[in-house]
Amino acid sequence: MADNIFSTITALAAQHDAINLGQGFPDFSGPERMLSIASQEILNGNNQYAPLRGLPTFLTAVSEQRERNYGLSFDPETEIVATVGATEGIAATVLSQVGPNDEVICFEPYYDAYAAAIDLAGGRRVSVPLIHDDSGWQIDTDAFRRAISPSTRLVIINNPHNPTGAVLDLTEFSGVCREHDLTVLSDEAYEYLVYDGRRHVPTAAYPGMPERTVTVGSAAKTFAVTGWKTGWALGPTRLIAEVTAAKQYLTFVGFTPAQPAIAYALREEMGWVSSMVSSLQEQRDLLASSLREAGLKVLDSQGTFFLLADVTTHLSPSQTGADWCRALIEKYGVAAIPVEVFADHPEKWSHLVRFTYCKGQETMAEARRRLSRVGE
Ligand code: PMP
Ligand code: GLN
Repeated sequence: MADNIFSTITALAAQHDAINLGQGFPDFSGPERMLSIASQEILNGNNQYAPLRGLPTFLTAVSEQRERNYGLSFDPETEIVATVGATEGIAATVLSQVGPNDEVICFEPYYDAYAAAIDLAGGRRVSVPLIHDDSGWQIDTDAFRRAISPSTRLVIINNPHNPTGAVLDLTEFSGVCREHDLTVLSDEAYEYLVYDGRRHVPTAAYPGMPERTVTVGSAAKTFAVTGWKTGWALGPTRLIAEVTAAKQYLTFVGFTPAQPAIAYALREEMGWVSSMVSSLQEQRDLLASSLREAGLKVLDSQGTFFLLADVTTHLSPSQTGADWCRALIEKYGVAAIPVEVFADHPEKWSHLVRFTYCKGQETMAEARRRLSRVGE
């Protein structure tokens, strides 16, 4: 199997000493006290397997946070499991729900781990393109309905959405899921990263959704610790038992010392998260202006770490966004990700390129300096 797009672009960026606005990882770390709790946990000897479902303090912190933020109640003993990042939550959910030839509906462009998990389960992907127009990104509800068949076992939704940066309204989507009694995997890895005063609405908050939704989340983006690979899956007892059964043979458990540190951060550091969100919003706006000055059309980013640029006017007829990204690294020293790799209909997305704005001020300033040469 070839390296995925993130490894490929990150390696190419390193080779050309490029600023990496490709792979979404911050170049700063999370709140000091959270970091120091993790290191104290290691030094104090909390270095062995956690219980399969996670440390009680972690599970309780996740549960309290849901209640506080969204008024949603999840029993820490039966309705939450700690996972090795959102990635393991995705894999375990897909493996537990999908068998050979079962169909899984995804909305493209979609995060690449979904395709890999579906393949691993022997399932079949049915990909419904999102629609983009002047009012933003939306689910094509008619196409969604047409994609449903007697073999549909799971629907994967990601909100806030990578790679588009969209914050989706799931009212109609959830109506269709209820109508067809579908099980949903909701990837909310970016739930806290929404801008311009928006509020994230979890999929499980829509009527009729709690009983059919597995929600995966992660500390990675929220607390700027993508290397900790610590997340959670939440849902009704039956689904979480199935996810846990799959998870136990993927990793059994993850990195124990991270759990008390993240439990602390979920309780005490949401202020830190708010200031990170403000600075991400500022970086988003600065990056968008630089790209516009370079002659690119920039699509609105309402959440996540990402914005999309339309590079149509910079492509020759035989080129796609992937060629443009390669040239951007080689000629200008900035790395970005072509959106066509996130799709089963790549031709629909070959004019779009994803940039992250999750780096600190200095890195982003240098990236903007380099991008200013693109339009020359
Ligand atoms: N889902 C989405 C949409 C992502 O962008 C990512 C990458 N951060 C993940 C899941 C994986 O998250 P984690 O690093 O917690 O495994
Ligand atoms: N989620 C991050 C992104 O979309 C990184 C994913 C990865 O490296 N596998 O950029």
